[in-house]
Amino acid sequence: MSEDLTQHYSQILSILGEDTQRGGLVDTPKRAAKAMQFLTDGYEKNLDDVVNGAIFEADTDEMVVIQNIEYYSLCEHHILPFIGQCHIAYLPKGKVLGLSKFARIVDMYARRLQIQEGLTKQIADAIQEVTGAAGVGVIMEGKHMCMMMRGVQKQNSSMVTSVMLGGMRNSDATRNEFLRLIGK
Ligand SMILES: [Zn+2]
Repeated sequence: MSEDLTQHYSQILSILGEDTQRGGLVDTPKRAAKAMQFLTDGYEKNLDDVVNGAIFEADTDEMVVIQNIEYYSLCEHHILPFIGQCHIAYLPKGKVLGLSKFARIVDMYARRLQIQEGLTKQIADAIQEVTGAAGVGVIMEGKHMCMMMRGVQKQNSSMVTSVMLGGMRNSDATRNEFLRLIGK
């Protein structure tokens, strides 16, 4: 795949009118291919491998919040970056997930072509699936390069998406506690 990608990047550079043999560009197609593979390596991962058994018994039902998980994704409409922070809350029901796994789950889905709405939902569903929690909430803030660098060129806008499941959806008090804890 890497060689195919390299060839295609080389073609793109030619079509743009670049001299692919000039010094600074000689290895660019190869580097761009490598970078793109890294940014989309979420396609090669699945939830089981990412969680890798890091799910632990715990007799707590108090809300757990993990905030400010940074993410870097690519929008599926323009293949341009959108980046921001992800905040996760869940209400454990006998099981908790290892802390680093939240970030790994976020990365797995972020490193695919996405829209922010879908990314938020996939992360919430995944956490629900692996923890069997009584409720899950995910809030994502994102700045979209397709809006900042092109199109309407709005540099200061950001998008907020939210998915609330189970007890996080049904209880205003619980949802407000989440928002308060992340300073919203
Ligand atoms: Zn876009």
